[in-house]
Amino acid sequence: HPTLFRLVALSTIAISGGSIVYAEANIGSGGRAVVDPTKKKKVVVLGTGWAGMSFLKNLNNPSYEVEVVSPRNYFAFTPLLPSVTCGTVEGRSIVEPIRNIIGKKKYDARYWEAECYKIDPVEKKVYCRTAAELDGKKEFSVDYDYLVIAMGARVNTFNTPGVEENCHFLKEVEEAQNIRKNLIDSFEKASLPNLSEEDRKRILHFVVVGGGPTGVEFAAQLHDFVNDDLVKLYPKVKDHVKITLLEATDHILNMFDKRITAFAEGKFQRDGIDVKLGSMVVKVTDKEISTKARSNGETFSMPYGLCLWSTGIGPRPVIKEFMQQIGQGNRRALATDEWLRVEGYNNIYALGDCATINQRKVMEDISAIFSKADKDKSGTLTVKEFKEVIADICERYPQVELYLKKKQMRDIVDLLKEVKGDAAKETIEVSIEEFKSALSQVDSQMKNLPATAQVANQQGAYLAKCFNRTEECEQNPEGPIRFRGEGRHRFHPFRYRHLGQFAPLGGEQTAAQLPGDLVSIGHSSQWLWYSVYASKQVSWRTRALVVSDWFRRFIFGRDSSRI
Ligand code: FAD
Repeated sequence: HPTLFRLVALSTIAISGGSIVYAEANIGSGGRAVVDPTKKKKVVVLGTGWAGMSFLKNLNNPSYEVEVVSPRNYFAFTPLLPSVTCGTVEGRSIVEPIRNIIGKKKYDARYWEAECYKIDPVEKKVYCRTAAELDGKKEFSVDYDYLVIAMGARVNTFNTPGVEENCHFLKEVEEAQNIRKNLIDSFEKASLPNLSEEDRKRILHFVVVGGGPTGVEFAAQLHDFVNDDLVKLYPKVKDHVKITLLEATDHILNMFDKRITAFAEGKFQRDGIDVKLGSMVVKVTDKEISTKARSNGETFSMPYGLCLWSTGIGPRPVIKEFMQQIGQGNRRALATDEWLRVEGYNNIYALGDCATINQRKVMEDISAIFSKADKDKSGTLTVKEFKEVIADICERYPQVELYLKKKQMRDIVDLLKEVKGDAAKETIEVSIEEFKSALSQVDSQMKNLPATAQVANQQGAYLAKCFNRTEECEQNPEGPIRFRGEGRHRFHPFRYRHLGQFAPLGGEQTAAQLPGDLVSIGHSSQWLWYSVYASKQVSWRTRALVVSDWFRRFIFGRDSSRI
């Protein structure tokens, strides 16, 4: 009965100006969250991952009241999850309680350990359910003025039979810890007496499905764990260990530079990791994985002991339902504009893995700008007009400016450069159609920002900055921040700055793809990896824990106890 359920959450400790403010919230009859009325605008944040954490950390405006809903009361540093699977770092070292983050902020904030199961954009409400172990799945709703959806994504199984039941996923800290236990169990199980050789081999056959950065890093970590630590402890079974990496396309790490892909494939071959390219998994049972070759459709079955499934992401059910509700049912993620607003809703923002900036709309807008500039409908523009159009597009869509640097666009810009001097009045040779077709060629590259922590983190920080400056902007619309009247957002659109990406390959070697297409592979990049990941920790506490875990591993090796 709802009245039996009264949860008083001493939720927020907002430290402002040295004084500690305790915010009290009740979930009263009817399951509604009743908050003391204030004049402050209420921002509800769904999720405490990279995007949510970055928003909460960077928000500094005390004129907002913030409510955070997430089933995890901590932020997890996901790039180190593969290290947790093999005990290189401990699970606790990579998490930061969300109350530590919001407790230090100037704004009033409350945190609810619950999951959102429905978003109602008309009533401006989100419906939430507490965790079963916390309060027996009680339901309540929370009103918002602004909603920030940062719920991430879930693993995509492509509905492959048996995957949910038999494979491990690696998205949460608990999953990484579970893999670690299961790995050690496999070695203990394979060491038991009265087992056939065949069974021992099966138990110690570790299969990774998906040759993206997570699958590759896990395979590399596992290889190191086995060869550095476990072979010494389990000498009798060491020869039975096998690691297989299954990838459906023609190469692993195919979002990286070709040099990195080639190096990684070569290194794995030297390390004895069996990389099977063009292999699609079609079925998984408790003991066997069935694959189909993409080239000739041949099927093959392999016995296995432990399988990690890491083939990409898909939307969570609540996001899927919300997308259907707002007419985005055919999309893979919530479409937003360049200011991260969910299309059609000025007060709902979506960031991180659950969202995507709608590039199709960008393309349509660009086409419209061209058509408008082509006043005499001749299909060509003068150099001057062309430059104006490009400047306008770059200002409105910085991601296009980013892609203008790419090859196809450079050709067009080079053409422009050739027609200099008195050419300002000439009609240039590049017609609008040519420009549009070049744009559509880069469309596929422009389509989506990668689903990475880097993007989510930058989006969270960007949105927080917008919220921090709202009042300043309202008071001074023509001031330092651009404000171009009706229908236009008053801030710069979100601009992604790619800082490079790493692919750790084991044996203290990492491949790094740095801005400007610089590639660095080897031991020096591993040190760069250590320094970047130490510096990117969200607190000094986790930084100290992670660095001490690395030292512990260097000195004593990885711990193989099953706890
Ligand atoms: P998440 O970080 O997944 O956070 C989602 C949040 O929403 C969580 O707090 C979750 O509890 C909460 N949530 C879920 N359901 C609900 C609900 N119903 N209601 C409310 N809250 C909910 N990226 C990189 O840039 N570099 C890397 O090296 C890298 N390595 C990775 C390694 C691994 C193993 C994995 C899994 C990912 C890695 N990524 C990396 C990708 C990166 O982690 C994601 O892109 C990033 O976490 C996305 O951030 P997010 O905030 O959108 O989602």
